[in-house]
Amino acid sequence: LFAQNTQFVHAAQTVEGLLEARGIEVALAGRSNVGKSTLINAITGHVALARVAQAPGRTRQLNFFQVGEGRLSIVDMPGYGYAEAPKAVKRDWQGLMFRYLRGRPNLRRVLLLMDARIEDKPADHTIMDILDKAAVAFQIVLTKADKMKPEVLARKHEAILAIARKHPAALNDVIVTSSETGLGIAELRASIAALVV
Ligand code: GDP
Repeated sequence: LFAQNTQFVHAAQTVEGLLEARGIEVALAGRSNVGKSTLINAITGHVALARVAQAPGRTRQLNFFQVGEGRLSIVDMPGYGYAEAPKAVKRDWQGLMFRYLRGRPNLRRVLLLMDARIEDKPADHTIMDILDKAAVAFQIVLTKADKMKPEVLARKHEAILAIARKHPAALNDVIVTSSETGLGIAELRASIAALVV
């Protein structure tokens, strides 16, 4: 699947601005700086794909990338948890995100990225509760595993598995990744590819 070219297709700032889905969609969400752009590039085998969509002013929109002929789209959701963002701005993009998550029949899965080094934050739990309510299956993906000692990483993995078990919409496994070493990337690709039939 990911041997095919992936291209940036469009960006939506409002729910009204969303194009109708062609194929299935897999969305990536996570706190700002979690490594989302880097992971999208690693999954799709591009050097700077997600960067294109990261130009100033474009970070609070949903960016759609089409893989190959369009049976799959990767959706880059705005990073959350920006402490410095004005309340009104947060409200706007949260509204967009919630409405997208609740009303998108073609959305098969959300990959919820969490930085392996950082404690889970209230914003992470908020989005997990929203995904539960919307009954959108989600997979927690730990990022930046290369930055941690194996034993600390193993403890973190266990702790996140325990969190996943509390959420009805969460998949039971947590994928541990590093865009630096390539850890978990093949596993992640395979789990996405399994959704595309
Ligand atoms: P985004 O804001 O979630 O899109 O995060 P970026 O993809 O821009 O990554 C934020 C920072 O983390 C950048 O400096 C990346 O180089 C770094 N980063 C991302 N993934 C990894 C990883 O797996 N390992 C390491 N060591 N650094 C990473």
